[in-house]
Amino acid sequence: MFTINENYLKLPGSYLFSNIAKKVNAYTAANPDADIIRLGIGDVTRPLAPSVIRALHEAVDEMGDAATFHGYGPEQGYDFLKEKIVAYDFAPRGVKLDLDEIFISDGAKSDCGNIGDILGLDNVVAVCDPVYPVYVDTNAMAGRAGGYGADERWDKLIYMPCTAQNHFIPDLPAGKAPDLIYLCFPNNPTGSMISFEGLKKWVDYANEHGSLILYDSAYVAFISEDVPHSIYEIEGAKRCAIEFRSFSKTAGFTGTRCAYTVVPKELKCGEVSLNALWLRRQTTKFNGVPYIVQKGAAAIYSEQGQKEIRETVAYYMNNAKVIREGLAAAGFAVSGGVNAPYIWMKTPDGMTSWEFFDALLQKAQVVGTPGSGFGPSGEGYFRLTAFGTYENTVRAIERIKKVF
Ligand SMILES: *Cc1c(COP(=O)(O)O)cnc(C)c1O
Repeated sequence: MFTINENYLKLPGSYLFSNIAKKVNAYTAANPDADIIRLGIGDVTRPLAPSVIRALHEAVDEMGDAATFHGYGPEQGYDFLKEKIVAYDFAPRGVKLDLDEIFISDGAKSDCGNIGDILGLDNVVAVCDPVYPVYVDTNAMAGRAGGYGADERWDKLIYMPCTAQNHFIPDLPAGKAPDLIYLCFPNNPTGSMISFEGLKKWVDYANEHGSLILYDSAYVAFISEDVPHSIYEIEGAKRCAIEFRSFSKTAGFTGTRCAYTVVPKELKCGEVSLNALWLRRQTTKFNGVPYIVQKGAAAIYSEQGQKEIRETVAYYMNNAKVIREGLAAAGFAVSGGVNAPYIWMKTPDGMTSWEFFDALLQKAQVVGTPGSGFGPSGEGYFRLTAFGTYENTVRAIERIKKVF
């Protein structure tokens, strides 16, 4: 008789967003006329840039003509897109990459999970707390997280608290060095950003201890300060880090699906090249991102495309400013929202994250995300996102100020 991967049975239900939906549905059922404003979404809302739409249409037409039709492409992505990535995302930052160090994929989420395929099951994993849940759950599925306890922690994971005390940047682990370290900057959910100095500490630590850093920079497009855009801006990072990027938040591709992962050729485990392993993994289990979609992604690198995606990012970041400054002026302790579309606020009056969620929904008809849903250290915090409309963002902040 067949068996299953028992690790899946250890996973707690994904209660966060279903709980939120349940509570909002119950409230709207009881208050059918309520005008609810949602600042909990982690999805973009502005449409794709006109340059992208034009490129998508052109690529669709190519597919309808035998002379320009594209079937299977290279599993690791077309050179026309990789050339743009190398020239626009890295070269201006002083980072030199070869085309075969870039792997185009259907998402940073899939890559963050799939990367575990080429890594040993006995690796000790460290994650930030609070954290993007994908890193935790995919390691739990693989068996690297151990068992899930009543304290709502996995017993084999190392949790690195990110609190107001350390400005939501994790401290280097005190005890035995973890083998795999997930870092995400600009950060989801706290909106924090790491400095050159801060990131250098991690790169040096990883090289010294033989750890691998899995660096998620899905929100790089939202950076406004002089901080690292890529981990490879730090000396030595090519020997210890894999970087995940995505067109999702950068250019509104959450529903279109295109991302990429950088695996430098210098990155080795003993004699073994991780680049070679990832290539083997991708060419075996993945058949590439649609030609049409890669054409659309390449269009963001035209002069006009850059202008258009920057305008959209600026629109969201203006919302972030409205939230951050509005709440700060009202006396709330807030952080984030400068290099990331997320604002992380301390709940008032010592409320738990869920108590504040309920109060906000009942009294202000505003929906956000309870910080405790991202990890134990998120308790007492609340995440608001800049992905709403400007008008709703302004109204939401006015309501919150009035009620609390
Ligand atoms: C949204 C997000 C991603 C992007 O995932 P895609 O699969 O490329 O859409 C990656 N990491 C974090 C932390 C995110 O919030």
